[in-house]
Amino acid sequence: MSFKIAIASGKGGTGKTSISVCLQHFIKNQLTDKIQLVDCDVEEPNDLLFFPNAKKKKAHKLTQLVPVIDKSKCTFCRKCADYCEFNAISIIPSASIVHVNSNLCHSCGACLVACEHDAIKETELPIGQINFYQEENHIKLIEGELKIGSAMQTMVIKELKKYVDTANKIILYDAPPGTSCPVVETISDVDFIILVSEPTPFGLHDLKLMVELIKELNKPFSVIINKVGLGNHDIYDYLKLEQIDILGEIPFTQNFATQYAKGELLNNIPEDISDEFEKITNRLKKEIYA
Ligand code: SF4
Ligand code: SF4
Repeated sequence: MSFKIAIASGKGGTGKTSISVCLQHFIKNQLTDKIQLVDCDVEEPNDLLFFPNAKKKKAHKLTQLVPVIDKSKCTFCRKCADYCEFNAISIIPSASIVHVNSNLCHSCGACLVACEHDAIKETELPIGQINFYQEENHIKLIEGELKIGSAMQTMVIKELKKYVDTANKIILYDAPPGTSCPVVETISDVDFIILVSEPTPFGLHDLKLMVELIKELNKPFSVIINKVGLGNHDIYDYLKLEQIDILGEIPFTQNFATQYAKGELLNNIPEDISDEFEKITNRLKKEIYA
């Protein structure tokens, strides 16, 4: 059985991607090479940027089934719209208008069942793809890539997770930022969540939202404070009050930020940062092998 860890943050720009990539690197070196990184940030997958030797092995196209209404058969009875829980169908009998909003459609098929006039068929719409990258003879990174203009983030993530190689001991999900449905889909089946935050007022605000969400899902979690040295002490006061564990603290250094910007995150990692990731990996070991 794989141990699944999600790395998440309540907002973008906290360093979630750099922490995901570094954790993959340190876990591989310290614990096991049976680890796979899964980039679930499907609107903007960029973990790949930090693996210059990874080769794309294959891609799997994803499509969504959406209904198409044949106006010549439609009686404008509105039954399909009433059946649709997602308000994806608009029927305006007085103007003879039928419209399916594919961005709202969840491909549940209820409207097809509802229609008694055989006026609805389904068609396939592309929503993105899953990319598989190999390095050192195994698929170490898979990513979901949402088609530009599609709003089917959650569906792409759900499909992406079907392709995770559970022969690996550890699966790391780099979650999308925020607290909406794509995040819930990402973290719903994981064994442990790492919340990445920064010691700023915005960072603390979004961390609190994430903590509320995770408490509702009843998942074990811990926090990595990134960019330590910026901001203020409020985040520490909050974590102490809420009795939330700090898994690690990554100091802010200009050099590391520059390396990130150049896609050279794993080259010459500064010693203080390297030491902290080694400690984090050791603490995670207790969760993974408990
Ligand atoms: S397939 Fe489901 S979600 Fe999509 S339009 Fe029909 S009823 Fe609505
Ligand atoms: S249920 Fe069928 S006939 Fe009625 S409005 Fe929808 S598509 Fe038209």
